[in-house]
Amino acid sequence: MARPRDPRAAGAQAVLTIDLHALAANWRLLAARAAPAECAAVIKADAYGIGLEPAARALAKAGCRTFFVANANEGARARETLGAKKSIRIYVLNGLLPGAPVARLYLEHGLRPVLGSPEELREWAARAPKAPFALHMDTGMNRLGAPGGDETIHAALKKSGAAPALLMSHFVASETPADPLNKRQTAAFQKLRARFPGIPASLANSSGIFLPQEPFFDLTRPGYALYGGNPTPGKKNPMLPVVKLEAPIIQLRTIEAGETAGYNAQWTAKRRTRLATIGVGYADGLPRNLMATDARAGGEAMVQGARCAFAGRVSMDLTVIDVTDVPEQSLRPGVMAQLLGADITIDDMGARARTIGYEILTGLGRRYARVYKSGRQYGAAGADV
Ligand SMILES: *Cc1c(COP(=O)(O)O)cnc(C)c1O
Repeated sequence: MARPRDPRAAGAQAVLTIDLHALAANWRLLAARAAPAECAAVIKADAYGIGLEPAARALAKAGCRTFFVANANEGARARETLGAKKSIRIYVLNGLLPGAPVARLYLEHGLRPVLGSPEELREWAARAPKAPFALHMDTGMNRLGAPGGDETIHAALKKSGAAPALLMSHFVASETPADPLNKRQTAAFQKLRARFPGIPASLANSSGIFLPQEPFFDLTRPGYALYGGNPTPGKKNPMLPVVKLEAPIIQLRTIEAGETAGYNAQWTAKRRTRLATIGVGYADGLPRNLMATDARAGGEAMVQGARCAFAGRVSMDLTVIDVTDVPEQSLRPGVMAQLLGADITIDDMGARARTIGYEILTGLGRRYARVYKSGRQYGAAGADV
């Protein structure tokens, strides 16, 4: 008789296991691929949902020295975790809003803003004339950064007398290697770089590291691939899975062909069907778009090694799955169903929910029991940190 694999299932709670050993291995793989360029780590949005503090610690231990976050509050958390050492560089992607308290937040925590307009440059030069910053030049995204052809940014730089510690730009479509934008942006960045001699340059995100142009420059900035996302969609994922999501079976029942399951009776059994209700729902970040109706397939879970389709709508705290093909004797309340892991990737779930794996990761809920596996404990049966 199969026993619940995690004691936390006793609380009928879903369990999110985060493998920090795999995270470190992913960073090393990306670093080796772009060497001798330095490999940074993007840990914005709570390290893509896995937890900023444990992720930052594990990455620093693996050898990462440069980190990117979205805003100064995330930067302060990263600094707190990583210590005051100047050799650990923390860049804040969203730049600098005007006002002395904002600049103070950067200076207090040794954060480097990524600046992308003459106004931001002037603000930083006035508040912190000697403190390092990055300059973001736009090469086609039209989101953040100064337009490449815009001379006002060069004039503002000259006037401030400050030199950026890093020159960067961002890809628009690096996950699609055939997109001509990749070539165009790489060439535009190459050209821009010539105007900043001796200044380290950075262009590649996760997928950028796998482009045939090898646009590594001096520093790469992966995020998604570190957390197990596939940087090469359509091809085999070179990264190790970092997150595993499991939810316990709470109830089992058998319904007859023609009966329905879930809200609004959107899914009808085509055969005599064994259903399992598992303890995870849209309040946990499981997209409601994974609902299975008579018109379309939805999400999937793995139970005792068998793939089980969702049946009906995803509820707030519960999801119903079809376990007809799982041997009856191996099913009982407390047995865990895997929603994400080695067999169901974040990319798979993203596609089934008609979104991207990035949104799946960053939407991971707060209600899970979180288990962090460190390198040392990795592989020990059931051990966690
Ligand atoms: C989020 C972000 C990254 C990381 O992108 P991934 O696709 O997750 O690797 C790199 N650079 C910038 C500017 C970003 O906003």
